[in-house]
Amino acid sequence: MLAQRISLLSGSGTAAAREAAKEAAAAGHQIIDLAAGEVIIEPPLSVREGAIAAITAGTNRYTESVGLPTLRTAIAKKLSAQTGIDWNTDNIVITAGAKQGLLDAALAVLDPGDEVIIIRPCWPTFPSQVVLAGAKPVFVDACPPRYIPDISAIRGVVAPRTKAIIINSPNNPTGAVYDRTTLQAIGDLAINYQLWIISDECYSSFVFTGARHESIVSAHPGVRSRTILVNAFSKELAITGWRLGYFAASGKITSAARKLQTHTTSNANVIAQHAILHHLQVSDGTFEREMHQRLADARSMGLRILAGLEDASPPNADGSFFFYLDLSGLVSALPAGVPVRSTDDIARLLLKEAGVASVAGGTFGDVNGLRLSFGAPPDLLVSGLERVVETLNGLRTRQAVA
Ligand code: PLP
Repeated sequence: MLAQRISLLSGSGTAAAREAAKEAAAAGHQIIDLAAGEVIIEPPLSVREGAIAAITAGTNRYTESVGLPTLRTAIAKKLSAQTGIDWNTDNIVITAGAKQGLLDAALAVLDPGDEVIIIRPCWPTFPSQVVLAGAKPVFVDACPPRYIPDISAIRGVVAPRTKAIIINSPNNPTGAVYDRTTLQAIGDLAINYQLWIISDECYSSFVFTGARHESIVSAHPGVRSRTILVNAFSKELAITGWRLGYFAASGKITSAARKLQTHTTSNANVIAQHAILHHLQVSDGTFEREMHQRLADARSMGLRILAGLEDASPPNADGSFFFYLDLSGLVSALPAGVPVRSTDDIARLLLKEAGVASVAGGTFGDVNGLRLSFGAPPDLLVSGLERVVETLNGLRTRQAVA
């Protein structure tokens, strides 16, 4: 008999979408993958060279559980420059991707029975990890078109066992970038109710047209001691498979993570740690600028195509690299008898008939949404989005099945 906690975990919807796309491709269908949460681009040469040099130098041993001090110092410097807040080596923990940082955070601050506020639509790992820690996710819905949470709605769910709030800006899946006023209000609330803030800023490099990423610790320096700021190189340097992330927090939390990681992963992959260290030492930011430009162009081009949707507004896509469509209008306007009744059905139809992989909003706790990544190669993105528009626009005139 398996442990009860396993039955509490839902499968990963994003991984399921990826698998469905792979299966369709293996069956010989030409699939355009707009489901993936990663940018399809070669990682920077400096990262690859750093990895090769580390292997050649025989770098094979364990590191400190919280990572190489040199890398932690380099990240502290980078993060201090980005946030305008001083971080030192002891504030930084290197993790196997942001995912491990988030799990460390949950295991370090949550007791069974605690409640954690999560803004929905949300990346599904947030509630799953809360459940793994024995705590209870409590959701607050952020509404279209902006998907910025309403502070009074957050205040409304605070209860005696509320221990933490998880925020994610720039957001997966909605692309929302929280403004300073929202961040400050969340900060005030966390102080008033003595909550931990777990701030996932994995998409901080991807903000477009006028929107500006601000960490909650920059918007509200008073929350620094109660914030666990999680980030990763996975998306920023297009190395999702290398598993290299980090978090910044007070010494109390980093000491807890040192213990946790000693007994879980020992340390993040040593070659990846050296590769990133090399990148941080030699990079002049060219790769990051070029990647940003590629995504900004993809976003503009994608928005032009999505403007052709007849029953949905083009998304904001202020940040991250996702178009998140609110298809509530389309779904409710579908004629009775048409077998497509939900965004799950729409995602299945897009895969089957248009050969486009997407992620239905149910994965993120929102039955009305559909997520399309603009991290796909530009030519594929154009044909993929054109097929999405054509398929969605054709839905209303579909014949009902007898
Ligand atoms: N946080 C968010 C919001 C994500 O969307 C993802 C991946 O999709 C992660 C964290 C995981 O990042 P990593 O691959 O660095 O573990």
